[in-house]
Amino acid sequence: MATAPFEKMPEDRAPARSDEQGATHDIVGLGIVVAAVLLFVANGSAVLADFLGTLLHGMPPHEPMLGTALVLNIALLLFGWRRYVDLTREVGQRREAEQTAHRLAQTDPLTNCLNRRSVGPALEQMIRTARTSGHEVVAMMMDVDNFKRSNDAHGHQAGDAILVQTASRIAELLPEGSIIARLGGDEFAFAAIFDPDHAEAIDRLMVRLNESIARPVHFEGLSLEVTASIGLATSCQADAGDPGTMAEMILHHADLAMYQAKKAGRNRFCWFEQSMEHELRFRSELERGIREGIPAGEFVPFYEKQVDLDTGELRGFEMLARWCSPRHGLVSPEIFIPIAEEIGLISDLSENLIRQALRDAREWDPSLTLSVNISPLQLRDPWFAQKLLKLLVEANFPPHRLDIEITETCLHENIGVVRTLITSLKNQGIRISLDDFGTGYSSLAQLRTLPFDQIKIDRFFVSTLGKNKDSGTIIEAISSLGKGMDLPITAEGIESPEVLEELRKYGSFKGQGFLYGQPINATAVRALLTEKKLLKTHQPDALHCAPETLPRAATA
Ligand code: C2E
Ligand code: MG
Ligand code: MG
Repeated sequence: MATAPFEKMPEDRAPARSDEQGATHDIVGLGIVVAAVLLFVANGSAVLADFLGTLLHGMPPHEPMLGTALVLNIALLLFGWRRYVDLTREVGQRREAEQTAHRLAQTDPLTNCLNRRSVGPALEQMIRTARTSGHEVVAMMMDVDNFKRSNDAHGHQAGDAILVQTASRIAELLPEGSIIARLGGDEFAFAAIFDPDHAEAIDRLMVRLNESIARPVHFEGLSLEVTASIGLATSCQADAGDPGTMAEMILHHADLAMYQAKKAGRNRFCWFEQSMEHELRFRSELERGIREGIPAGEFVPFYEKQVDLDTGELRGFEMLARWCSPRHGLVSPEIFIPIAEEIGLISDLSENLIRQALRDAREWDPSLTLSVNISPLQLRDPWFAQKLLKLLVEANFPPHRLDIEITETCLHENIGVVRTLITSLKNQGIRISLDDFGTGYSSLAQLRTLPFDQIKIDRFFVSTLGKNKDSGTIIEAISSLGKGMDLPITAEGIESPEVLEELRKYGSFKGQGFLYGQPINATAVRALLTEKKLLKTHQPDALHCAPETLPRAATA
């Protein structure tokens, strides 16, 4: 059983100082008692001699005041003794309270593990101990997978039960003297000393740990499934001199490895590798680039043609974001969109791009539509509909020519909020498409309750048509679903005439893909439309939606 090693922590200054103060008080109290005893002895013997003289020889007392002094002396003695006892008790209580406060400051009250503040010094101490015996230290960072979801679904008490159970299961498996700390939320760190000649023992421990954590947590009749992502790093990989820096470095390495474990699909453990450090540096560089690139206008819309597959007629364009980075060249949205989402800049970025796209599309023939992709995070913004309408008004762009593409995964977020938002947008005349359909396991019931205008088949199924039997079956099913629900379908990812031929067998679709050309920038679109005589020649449309018609914030 792992012990919470706060006893091993370096001495805290505060209790030491109060111990000194207590000792001083003890000495003063004791001094009073000793002085009173000495006085009592001296006084008492004189009074006793006087008393015996009076009693045996009938002599009058030499010093009648001596009796009074003795009584006072006894009172002083009692007072001094009492004071000494009180002080000793008081100091004891204070010491106990300080120890409790010290312990509370070092531990997490829910799980009784160490907390974020104390794990560093504890690990530092462990590294010192390991060094003296030629051993090494392994540190692990752990994050409970999807903890927020289970907290939301079953309540905070169920979440607490998961944390307490998980901590105790870890503690059961770790060797004696290990460190176990809860860093906050669902994040834990633990560390143990190991023999570098038998490092394979760590892998065995991890397997047992994974199995133990995976046992369901029972709480008020519920059986809660728990998995975790764990990152591991050892002191062998950290070449820092002093134990303090080394402790920080190992925890940082374990954290990077945990991030990789999560990225690789969670419910696994992952060892730290030096390349992770480089990846992190690259990522911070991208983050900084995105922050600076948005105001600098480095993010620009590219456009991909959308055509009617039966007639070959151009129907519109899908706007696809591109980052023209001075440092990294043309960067794909698949790289920068997830980062922009994580650092909270997706709304700014998206609004910026939509503003540019609406300005470009205003020049196109009114028969052409503009599709834009929206991140699931933007759908959570209760002001999203209003922001979009504002952009339309600013650009004087008719809402019915705008198509918002939301991916199927958005539907799992919060269906109530999504429904309210879709309804709000549709009321303003904006069209809504369900993008990447077939990848996100939406149920038919969900599709029925959401008023989509169009379904887009994910490009994976289209591009593998003819090569993969399942793709054909799925496209056939989506096609009949579209017919049944009276929803038009767009097939994305048409790369070759063979795929187009094959696709035609399943019905009438709109389509897009590299067969019709790669996404191009606004200038190239302009040139193309000029050639096709599809550039607007007449005056801009009248204002299609006045600012006062903007909807209120959508609430679920
Ligand atoms: P998506 O909405 O499914 O966009 C279609 C993607 O498929 C585009 O990739 C496009 O270049 C690619 N594609 C089109 N035709 C073909 C083809 O024939 N073969 C193959 N292999 N690929 C084809 P891209 O531009 O890299 O965009 C990737 C994803 O990034 C988009 O997938 C979309 O989900 C997201 N995205 C793009 N722009 C934005 C944006 O402004 N905001 C948000 N939130 N997401 C965006
Ligand atoms: Mg799309
Ligand atoms: Mg798509």
